[in-house]
Amino acid sequence: ATPTALMVGTGRGAQLGILIKGPEVLESTRAVDTIVLDKTGTVTTGSMTLTGVLLADGVEEGDVLRLAGALEHASEHPVARAVAAGAADRVGELPAVDGFTNLPGLGVEGVVDGRTVLVGREQLLRDRSQPLPPELVRAKAAAEAGGGTAVAVGWEGRARAVLVVADAVKPDSAEAVRRLRALGLRPVLLTGDNAAVAAAVAAEVGIDAADVHAEVLPEEKVAVIRRLQAESRTVAMVGDGVNDAAALAQADLGLAMGTGTDAAIEAGDLTLVRGDLRVAADAIRLARRTLTTIK
Ligand code: ADP
Ligand code: MG
Repeated sequence: ATPTALMVGTGRGAQLGILIKGPEVLESTRAVDTIVLDKTGTVTTGSMTLTGVLLADGVEEGDVLRLAGALEHASEHPVARAVAAGAADRVGELPAVDGFTNLPGLGVEGVVDGRTVLVGREQLLRDRSQPLPPELVRAKAAAEAGGGTAVAVGWEGRARAVLVVADAVKPDSAEAVRRLRALGLRPVLLTGDNAAVAAAVAAEVGIDAADVHAEVLPEEKVAVIRRLQAESRTVAMVGDGVNDAAALAQADLGLAMGTGTDAAIEAGDLTLVRGDLRVAADAIRLARRTLTTIK
């Protein structure tokens, strides 16, 4: 590859809304045959809204919203933003938080009104001896079957509620997956979210059920990329979150959503400036064409 031809590719990339770290990046896209897509914020809009408050027997909705809303107000996670905004809408001003711990890929913990509150995955509450009571297990399963992301809320030794947030698939994601397939790439969905939500999103955009990896903790995302590489695949990864940074760095080609976090953008080789997933296909086509021209 001659430097001049690669520079032309880089300039064309800028026109398409692709920022390329260096011309040599185009070379590493040549052999890409698999493209791993993060779900939240990449395939979906990532702007979730609170759509349901499911209560354990005897629990007041106002208490749940005040405590969970206050705690989530301190977190930047898309689920947290939805919970905090929905709670503020329904109950008004939220109380202050004393201690706050972010538990990446699991949830948050903190002290509100003198009570230690947990909000996050069911597994997080179970690990703290706050298993969901049967009525919440049933309600949560129904919400997830409907495509919602359900997070549990607990305090003082008891799971109290399940909050349901929903996130829409971006209107262009299915088209993006079609274009990636047309280039001969195998699309894979990777998410920390639950299996039911992941399956619904995969079906909507055209990713095979066998290529869905759900309930993956942030540090395990790298392992999924490594496992695919161990199968002799050359892997591109598209992501937006702090949680995706290590996986973007591990991938043979890391594509960061320009609408995502600085950590993802720093870890990626390319940035899709407008956060348009269809441009991922343009980037790969551009790299291939640039390299063919210079042969
Ligand atoms: P993704 O891989 O889809 O971007 P994450 O790895 O960030 O998702 O999170 C995985 C799951 O952990 C979320 O779907 C949610 O259930 C839970 N979670 C993470 N952070 C929070 C939070 N601040 N509040 C509630 N739940 C959270
Ligand atoms: Mg994400």
